[in-house]
Amino acid sequence: MRIKDITDFLEQFAPLSYQESYDNSGLLVGDANAELSGVSITLDVTERVIDEAIRNRDNLIIAHHPLIFKGLKSLTGKHWVERCVIKALKNNIALYAIHTNLDNVHLGVNRKIAEQLALKNIRILSPKSEILSKLVTFVPHEDAQRVLDALYAAGAGQIGQYDHCSFQSDGTGTFRPGENSNPHIGTHNVDETVSEKRIELVFPTYLKSKIVSALHNSHPYEEVAYYLSALSNTHQEVGSGIVGELSSPMDTLEFLRHLKQTMRTECVRHTSICNEKVSKIALCGGAGSFLLSKAIGAGADVFITGDFKYHDFFEADSRIVVADIGHFESEQFTKDLLYDIISEKFTNIALRLSEVQTNPINYL
Ligand SMILES: [Zn+2]
Repeated sequence: MRIKDITDFLEQFAPLSYQESYDNSGLLVGDANAELSGVSITLDVTERVIDEAIRNRDNLIIAHHPLIFKGLKSLTGKHWVERCVIKALKNNIALYAIHTNLDNVHLGVNRKIAEQLALKNIRILSPKSEILSKLVTFVPHEDAQRVLDALYAAGAGQIGQYDHCSFQSDGTGTFRPGENSNPHIGTHNVDETVSEKRIELVFPTYLKSKIVSALHNSHPYEEVAYYLSALSNTHQEVGSGIVGELSSPMDTLEFLRHLKQTMRTECVRHTSICNEKVSKIALCGGAGSFLLSKAIGAGADVFITGDFKYHDFFEADSRIVVADIGHFESEQFTKDLLYDIISEKFTNIALRLSEVQTNPINYL
């Protein structure tokens, strides 16, 4: 096993291209090809987390938050981030971050919180756009299914809970093979007419090179005709926040107490209780104030997140109850999520949750 085997798998689950533009997810320190000795999972990388990995002989630390977020201009050890990088490098420990890409996938950070709260009818609160593309290609009838199967296997034709989605229409293709061509059908310098299928499929843009090579490898023609276009549609399974429903309406204050207990937080900072009962719940792990208007627009009764600022609380304006449960507290189950994903796939590795408490905030 190499470090790359784990990180490649994580990037299938939460592709790096789904991270926000300001983020820095991915392998931050270390050699992807190094042999794996053990994996430690944490929310944050600190010197104590690295010391623990050294003791356990884990050479890969998977963190939700990227240790290196802004550029590093020196590595002298003056700043705690520099000291962590130096310690990791000296001890051959790789640091990997899976941050907003894990927030943005539908089975990611927010889904885990929704599961803790037993929400039903879950959907992404703010689906991402500009991440889907469309392929149109033309294939002789007898080869159409083989080409389709190859494109499906490469990840095309998936819409929500449906796969093998395509649109096909019949038509006529024409061409004249040139002197130096090696045509699958036809003769040099003779006009050819072939019954073809026009095939259209949607795919996530990050799979483009995989899809195009599957097309070339399965299509019988020497020159494959195809169009790629970017779609402005939103992807319903990728984006920020989640909205769902409680199985039955709850008294608002009772719900907030339940939230405090379930999310193991010492403090819930909330706006005024503007509705007696709650049933529709919007949430976003970490700092989610940017989603408040989406939560109101979705008709949610409560918006659960962390890192709300004083002035932002006013924006609730008696239209929704904002409940700030703390950044760390909202994301604490992300460690379990990562543990479950990795242990389901790899059964033969040393995998552990870091026992270091990394929340920098204490309550008195
Ligand atoms: Zn966070």
